[in-house]
Amino acid sequence: MKISDILKQKRTFSFEVFAPKPDKPLEPLLSTLSELYAFAPDFISCTYGAGGTNKGRSLDVCAAVKASGHEIMTHFTCIGNTRADVRDYITKCGGLGIENVLALRGDFPAGWEGTRGDFRYADELLSFFGAEFPGLCMAVAGYPEKHIAAESLDADIARLRSKQDKGAAFVVTQLCYDVDAYGRYAERIRRAGVTLPVVVGIMPVLFKEPTIRTTVGNGCSIPAELASVFGKYGDDPESFKKAGKEYTVGLMERFVRAGIDGLHIYTMNKHEDVGDIVRLSGIGNAIR
Ligand code: FAD
Repeated sequence: MKISDILKQKRTFSFEVFAPKPDKPLEPLLSTLSELYAFAPDFISCTYGAGGTNKGRSLDVCAAVKASGHEIMTHFTCIGNTRADVRDYITKCGGLGIENVLALRGDFPAGWEGTRGDFRYADELLSFFGAEFPGLCMAVAGYPEKHIAAESLDADIARLRSKQDKGAAFVVTQLCYDVDAYGRYAERIRRAGVTLPVVVGIMPVLFKEPTIRTTVGNGCSIPAELASVFGKYGDDPESFKKAGKEYTVGLMERFVRAGIDGLHIYTMNKHEDVGDIVRLSGIGNAIR
């Protein structure tokens, strides 16, 4: 099923998992997935590694989710991909019944200055998908606090508008801990003519250093409420995780109150911690 059709009916609740490296077994992730299925997500998405590192396993993961009867969205990037590579991957997806793709540029691997493929930006990938695979449901990334390399938020939003014009069906956002900043972004994209549903990406707060690294690395802000979790519990991983889960639950509730179209939890394949968060929030039921 196309996720755009689910979004027409309801606010979605979904999970992102990341694919194991090509030389690693799939089984641990398959167990994680079966734990996540218990929360009846509307869909699962699976990351696609830059530089080709995760290619094989991404498709294997997507195939396994689809075969289990759950809806899947594959991520796909421009990194290192020629037109023939794109055609090959999406044709294989079609053969597996995978109808949803998150079209991304991807981050450049260390030492690269471009994508080293036939597409420079996500919107070029969208045009290609649209021309060659017209039935595909295409999602795109959005950045409530601006993509780190964009010259301004307005310029970044203009590119989001261009992705809409090229056939994108919905937006999945970068992590964002600042709900007020998200609210301002939502207003600005609507003023810029972006009418697409917006699914908000939630990065659970579980570990101090990785949370800081990912947030700062993506140019996102750490609001005072989150900073105080770092300040109070930063030296005690167990207390930090407990406080981080409570913070994440509060964040999800605030986003739902802000009037979003969906919540997408970046699970980092931590199904036990994510399970605690979902149970604590009751959000899986509340947003249906
Ligand atoms: P684009 O939309 O192409 O934008 C990239 C930058 O270029 C922006 O600064 C934009 O403003 C600018 N730009 C866009 N078009 C033009 C143009 N025509 N001219 C000049 N500048 C332009 N990465 C992975 O490798 N694998 C994943 O699975 C993955 N999953 C992700 C999931 C989500 C929800 C998000 C938000 C990100 C994900 N990423 C993933 C990271 C993503 O690839 C990076 O954020 C990347 O740097 C930008 O991707 P994009 O699709 O937003 O790029």
